[in-house]
Amino acid sequence: MDKIYKALIFDKKARITFIDGTCAVNQAIKMHKLSPTAAAALGRALIAGAYIATNLKGKRSSFTLIIKGGGPIGNIVVAGGSGNKIRGFVANPYVDMPLKDNGKLDVGGAVGKNGFLTVIKDYGLKKPYNGSCELVSGEIAEDFAMYLLKSEGIKSAVSLGVKLDKNGAAAAGGLIVEALPGIDENMLVILEDVMRNFTEISNLMTQKSAEQILDYYFGHLNYQKLAEEELVLECNCSKERIENIIKGLGKEEAYDIIKETGKLEIDCQFCSQKYVYTKEEVDKIWEMS
Ligand SMILES: [Zn+2]
Repeated sequence: MDKIYKALIFDKKARITFIDGTCAVNQAIKMHKLSPTAAAALGRALIAGAYIATNLKGKRSSFTLIIKGGGPIGNIVVAGGSGNKIRGFVANPYVDMPLKDNGKLDVGGAVGKNGFLTVIKDYGLKKPYNGSCELVSGEIAEDFAMYLLKSEGIKSAVSLGVKLDKNGAAAAGGLIVEALPGIDENMLVILEDVMRNFTEISNLMTQKSAEQILDYYFGHLNYQKLAEEELVLECNCSKERIENIIKGLGKEEAYDIIKETGKLEIDCQFCSQKYVYTKEEVDKIWEMS
């Protein structure tokens, strides 16, 4: 079961969010048949998405996170909503990259850094919130920290990681530490020091439980537990939603495809579920609209 742990430290002058998204990332790997580099890239983005989801205000809010770096993997899209439900896909899931000289997966090379990280949050109001920042490295953690600073004014340290083994993800998670008002120089120095332990967060997660990690690294810093929430990878596609996509295609395009292939097949990008429509069913979609 995936979980999100929230806590305060330093007498409420910093906030910690620790995310264990191992199950979600494993599901995504299977669902999209991700290459190792794509698994690391989408995995990190899903964990960043979990952080956005858990901080959404309102019960019916939703978000979309788009990372567009111009690299061979193409765009990464993560979406979700209140209740910590996340889903995501990458444009080219089979693209893989040679390992970097240090033996690490080359996520930055696959994602690229000529582009933007964009977050759209929909609170059900007239206009969705839209924030964007230029990518720093395409490695996602640094890019997300920059987004939080530039678009939301949150000074943070972000660590995101996916550790793969032959079965998929052995661990996938993230730690986001935010500075809150009143934090002083001394506390920032201590935090910087603690964060050095999290450069390989997913490795750490294969050795210790979330509780052990939090206790070991933050227990002595006036640690105050806030919440423990569940996190799930779940798609929200349905026949109705796909019918809207068909309407978006337009009548001509839809019937052209049916003429060529005898049917209209649409795959949900987020979960790879196939939706197949016969000509009669497509006729009905236009009769009803
Ligand atoms: Zn779906």
